[in-house]
Amino acid sequence: MNTVRADILQNLKRVVIKVGSGVISTAEGLDGVMIAQLAEDICDFCARGIEVILVSSGAVAAGRNSLGIAGRPKTIPQKQAAAAIGQPRIMRAYKEVFQRHNRVAAQVLLTRDDLSNRRRYLNAHNTFDALLEYGVTPIVNENDTVVVEEIRFGDNDNLSAQVASLMEVDLLLILSDVAGFYDGDPACDKGAQFLPLIEKITPEVMAMAGSSRGTLGTGGMQTKLQAAQKASLAGIPTMIVDGRAPGILRQVIEGDEVGSLFLASASKLSARKRWIALTMQPSGKLLLDDGAVRAVADSGKSLLPTGIVVVEGDFERGDAVHICDRNGIPFAIGVASYNSVELRQIKGHRCAEIEQILGYQYRDEAVYRDNLVLIGDTVEEVEA
Ligand code: GLU
Repeated sequence: MNTVRADILQNLKRVVIKVGSGVISTAEGLDGVMIAQLAEDICDFCARGIEVILVSSGAVAAGRNSLGIAGRPKTIPQKQAAAAIGQPRIMRAYKEVFQRHNRVAAQVLLTRDDLSNRRRYLNAHNTFDALLEYGVTPIVNENDTVVVEEIRFGDNDNLSAQVASLMEVDLLLILSDVAGFYDGDPACDKGAQFLPLIEKITPEVMAMAGSSRGTLGTGGMQTKLQAAQKASLAGIPTMIVDGRAPGILRQVIEGDEVGSLFLASASKLSARKRWIALTMQPSGKLLLDDGAVRAVADSGKSLLPTGIVVVEGDFERGDAVHICDRNGIPFAIGVASYNSVELRQIKGHRCAEIEQILGYQYRDEAVYRDNLVLIGDTVEEVEA
């Protein structure tokens, strides 16, 4: 076994396994055989003392046939209706196998909104903790039926990375319908090379993922790379393997050279900074002058109003914003200390002038440095 994999597996106490619709469903609906195999394998992980959080797609795929829809539902209400029908079917399918192993599964439905709110984020953490403590396997999906945005933009690859970061797991294991990561799309490019080890997700690596999409799931390889990148910033390695290959989870756990392994970044972000960079949705942009870019990016300083040239978007105090150079290229994400209206008034001004302009002052900084995460040239992929 190669040493990188050996290290990861030796320290494997907690894992997020993400399974896509393409793995556990067919054109007819849920693939009972695949689900049974997966559930058996998860029970095997648990029997080895590894805590598993499963992020399972498939709700839409499991429900759409009951609506008489062939292929991917087109409208949002169709997707939501299909998900509402399909979600209990998924849970029932997993539960049947778990019961044979005396294991209990719990359904956890999350929205992006839930995790963007710090209090609810921490609350979700406590819920997962309690479930794992009781030996229960959480089965997570997006709460598709209630969140329009979620279906339109959400994908379970990114959700799985956020859960991985929230629960500080040791590995994010993505079960896909391809064998791993290639430098091209193997479906249409016969010369595409398989890459077993990716040390860093650079923009070049990102470009190799193209924009491929499966027919049943929401994300393609690009969203899997975004997930791997988020996990990496949280200090978590990611493996992408062929979820339909028989015995794949056993091969992974025994250290076989299957799939593609993405290494974690050497510098793991703190818990609060992980939440800011990986989970909050920036709702505006602050464009800075060159001096402020240097102060923030190179010297680790807070962002003062004087360095802000342009304020884009409407946001509240406490919302996340992209912090950009004067061309609008983001290099950091931070939590704004003032709302967009206030920042438009105080931009370009010294701290001493804030109170005079606004009639009050919360603090000197527009974004305090503890609320600011540098993500350099990776920001666009990270934010996704
Ligand atoms: N949450 C969706 C479902 O369960 C799938 C999202 C995805 O494929 O990433 O059907």
